[in-house]
Amino acid sequence: MSNEQLTIIQTENHKQKPDFEHLEFGKEFTDHMFVMDYTTDLGWHDARIIPYQPLSLDPSAMVFHYGQTVFEGLKAYYTEDGNILLFRPDKNMQRLNQSNDRLCIPEIDEALALDALKELIKIDHEWVPKVKGTSLYIRPFIIATQASLGVHPSESYQFIIIMSPVGSYYKEGIKPIKIAVESRYVRAVAGGTGQAKTAGNYASSLKAQEVADEEGYSQVLWLDGVERKYVEEVGSMNIFFKINGEVITPALNGSILPGITRDSILHLLRHWNVPVVERKISMEEIYQAYKDGLLEEVFGTGTAAVISPVGELYWEDKKLDINDGEIGELSLKLYNTLTGIQLGKEEDIFDWTVEVKK
Ligand SMILES: *Cc1c(COP(=O)(O)O)cnc(C)c1O
Repeated sequence: MSNEQLTIIQTENHKQKPDFEHLEFGKEFTDHMFVMDYTTDLGWHDARIIPYQPLSLDPSAMVFHYGQTVFEGLKAYYTEDGNILLFRPDKNMQRLNQSNDRLCIPEIDEALALDALKELIKIDHEWVPKVKGTSLYIRPFIIATQASLGVHPSESYQFIIIMSPVGSYYKEGIKPIKIAVESRYVRAVAGGTGQAKTAGNYASSLKAQEVADEEGYSQVLWLDGVERKYVEEVGSMNIFFKINGEVITPALNGSILPGITRDSILHLLRHWNVPVVERKISMEEIYQAYKDGLLEEVFGTGTAAVISPVGELYWEDKKLDINDGEIGELSLKLYNTLTGIQLGKEEDIFDWTVEVKK
């Protein structure tokens, strides 16, 4: 990126770095942030990296009232030989634009956004933690900033990228999670915003999550919004089932978020010639497979945990114990391979990683 396109103002007060051995998710932020403005007159303009700081917005800024906002989530990893790698970041910028389209937010220049992100990481490279299992979590997001209570697409926006060093998702080894299948509330319906990464989907998910928490389940498995029969996805993960040797994941139907980890898992499985299908799958079918002793593995996929094995599914008063609450063989192989590629330890056969020059 040329200098006229990106202004850089470095901080004079470097923050104290947190203890990288004991990081909580999304609590500490790096020294700098990326900001770019949009107005109808100028389009996207004034791309800048500035010290991390609070925003100043009019109380009537549209994002507060009608939720016109989108976000992304990706990670940078420190490799053993001292490089910093991003994993398929072009896919995140592409998906940001798909979400933008659904939310009537003007398209961003994906290449410019990726260059700006690399520059931001370069400036804050000391914040990429080196402790095993840790990474730098990156949160790009766009908010509607026009001061107006009218319901219409905003005439101004800010695109911001903030970054947070995060700890190992699995501090004591990979532990399968317990998931409650949600039959009352729904997350999304086809035609809605389910396939966009937008705040509203999360706001509407909190209630079910709260109930599940109280009952000792760490996540909710959403069913389709029409019949409440077919499996969709978990809180912030897509879901896979291994039944009698075949891997099944719900097809992208317009209400499911198209996960980049999901796509990577599909690539790996096909590369290994493991039978895999994307199709509708009902809880009834999963329960039948469980009763027949054919439900071999269940796992979620997402940037945060990469692979999250499921040890128990709770559905309409029935408890399905999966693989004795242990991580399955295929889940473990997928986890090791994908994290291996992300950390530059395994051959990057699909050319997924992007190096950030320091
Ligand atoms: C982000 C997200 C995922 C996972 O997507 P990845 O690109 O794999 O991180 C799955 N479901 C929802 C609802 C999400 O927001």
